[in-house]
Amino acid sequence: MTPIQALQKYFGYSAFRHQQEEIIHHILDKKDVLTLMPTGGGKSLCYQLPAVLLDGLTIVISPLIALMKDQVDALNVNGIPAAFINSSQSTQEQIDISTRLKNNQIKLLYLAPERLFGKDSKLIDFLKTLPVSLIAIDEAHCISHWGHDFRPEYLMLSGFKLEFPNVPVIALTATADKLTKKDILEKLNLRNPAVFVSSFNRENITYRVLPKQNSFSQLLAFLEDHKEDSGIIYCLSRKSTESLAADLKDAGFLAEPYHAGLDNGVKARTQEAFLRDEVRIIVATIAFGMGINKSNVRYVVHMDLPKNIEGYYQETGRAGRDGLPSDAMLLFSPGDAIKLKQFAMVEDNPEQSRIMLKKLDDMVNYCQLHACRRQYLLKYFDEDFPPNCGSCDFCLTEFKMFDATLIAQKALSAVARLKERFGSVYVIDFLRGSRSEKIRPEHKELKTYGIGAEISKPEWQRYFRELAAQGYLQVTDDMYPVVKLTPKSEGVLKGTEKVELVASQVIEEYQPATEVLPYEAPLLAELRNIRRDIAQHENVPPYIILSDAGLQEMATYLPQSLDELRLISGFGDIKLARYGREFLLPVKSYSEKNGLSSKMKHKVPKRERKAKTGSGNRASDTAQESFTLYRAGNTVTEIATQRGLSPTTIEGHLSFYIYKGEMDVFELVTPEKMPAIKDVVESYGAEKLSPIKEVLGDDFSYGEIKAVVAWMRKNGEIA
Ligand code: ADP
Ligand code: ZN
Repeated sequence: MTPIQALQKYFGYSAFRHQQEEIIHHILDKKDVLTLMPTGGGKSLCYQLPAVLLDGLTIVISPLIALMKDQVDALNVNGIPAAFINSSQSTQEQIDISTRLKNNQIKLLYLAPERLFGKDSKLIDFLKTLPVSLIAIDEAHCISHWGHDFRPEYLMLSGFKLEFPNVPVIALTATADKLTKKDILEKLNLRNPAVFVSSFNRENITYRVLPKQNSFSQLLAFLEDHKEDSGIIYCLSRKSTESLAADLKDAGFLAEPYHAGLDNGVKARTQEAFLRDEVRIIVATIAFGMGINKSNVRYVVHMDLPKNIEGYYQETGRAGRDGLPSDAMLLFSPGDAIKLKQFAMVEDNPEQSRIMLKKLDDMVNYCQLHACRRQYLLKYFDEDFPPNCGSCDFCLTEFKMFDATLIAQKALSAVARLKERFGSVYVIDFLRGSRSEKIRPEHKELKTYGIGAEISKPEWQRYFRELAAQGYLQVTDDMYPVVKLTPKSEGVLKGTEKVELVASQVIEEYQPATEVLPYEAPLLAELRNIRRDIAQHENVPPYIILSDAGLQEMATYLPQSLDELRLISGFGDIKLARYGREFLLPVKSYSEKNGLSSKMKHKVPKRERKAKTGSGNRASDTAQESFTLYRAGNTVTEIATQRGLSPTTIEGHLSFYIYKGEMDVFELVTPEKMPAIKDVVESYGAEKLSPIKEVLGDDFSYGEIKAVVAWMRKNGEIA
């Protein structure tokens, strides 16, 4: 059996994701591998599929008992014999498992590292008597002090490779930084390992940041779009998780708190109920999440500022593992930043403090960013991404610009008058004519003192950020940052250059991304119930029976036979045989009642993607996938529907290829429309697309504008 056949037969998927296929081939060739893939990227399959194809046993090291159980359930439901050994089991259960192991009846065995090398553990000697064909080390970053989740027991694994010198080892992690990576390779003693680094982009997650005002009503407004969905809400303190969960309960939500201070039994029950969709919302401190493999988490909210981008990205990454559109929302207040700053100072360790503060700064900059958030996040992880993702609040917002030349002149002349020696807080107080003692008496004499009194402080702060972003001002990166003029300032001060800023009223043209797939809602509800019943019967969480993505596909493409059902994501041979009919019947009767027929021919299997070895030159997988589908003859709308992304996103992807010269601009724009767009871009610049769109009007789409901008960039006509 080839890997792709096994993928269909055992897992019910039609194509590999990321670099899964390359990784699997390496393992089958008995080579050691390190895999870095984002959360939800599909790491498990990289060892589960070889485990099925290889004779003998695959040992999987995993740090968390909850996670093991989940994976073992999922494998068994797919007809792959798997088991785990941990301290929660009785002696009898453990004896049964060793008998099955001796009889070659188990393909995957999950273990925590302390089991393997604990005091007087005879396990390793027993395992050596078995035909071990592969060793997988999940969450491999736990071996590194540099990672955010160091576990001393992982250090014991350094001898593992030496015990099984001829067995290939695959180490997997979602943590990408260089130090951790180096540490993993060294400590695990891997032999000439191939390193696979996937794009860390999570294309199905939409990122938003809102200024925190009345956080509870902001949260309720957000939840309007997520009434039936599962979600995680992160708070900084244990106390606030409890009070927020109580408030949400009062508002009618199935919410529970979760933090490290709760009784273990309570924690386990809450987690289990969440997995089974009986609790919809977990309000948690960061103590929650690592062991959560639940694939249908539709949103992650941060009520408070996270400490760094790494943590934030990991936490938001828990949304949308099933690939369906999901939301990440963060409520930001500068006050939170000040609070966290105090925590970031590590006593007697200036170097550590400096690093922590820098990380916090990067987090704050993300929140105050006036550009594509996804691009910023990926750049943080050393990855290039085009500046228009089409699915963050910045890219989804149409900004109204206004002539802010006068405002800019006031700001710049204040900076000049204060001799470029003060930070923005002081300059703003000065502009607003603050009577505070802080303002030096001689400054109160200056003509510019108080010329900006009509503008509020937060607004001035925003204008200063934007002026800096547009290059009219510059902020030094000293301990006490100072605002300075730039070469661009002169034209503004002389009145020869106009400045445009974003008006404070922003209009979001956000449509919940979940509406992209036109599925039959009543049917979906019915299928959900069926899934719940089966799950209860099998005593596993519902998403183990089938992912939300699979349900949605059924409700969209209406398969009418078992052969058609086989093409729905998640239906491998075993699931098809066990549950196929149960799902098929309601689809058929729903179709009949409503005069609908199969739409399976619209479901194009995802194309496989080219993978690259090594860490250099990571082009974006997702743009590549859109481009491949486009080249295969699909329209932008078709690609958008298929991928569950918005057409704007797809057009953004394609523009990237225009920029790279692999696609002609006239594939997206007619020659008649071209001159008008070029004209407007030439006079307005291409930094923001919304003003261009406004001038051009409804006859021109964002996609067309993006395409022309990309083409002009390629030709060096604009920067
Ligand atoms: P990770 O461990 O990287 O966080 P998982 O291994 O849990 O991610 O995979 C996330 C989800 O994606 C799982 O539900 C898994 O079944 C699914 N998945 C993995 N590979 C594929 C694939 N090639 N096609 C479709 N779904 C996949
Ligand atoms: Zn964006």
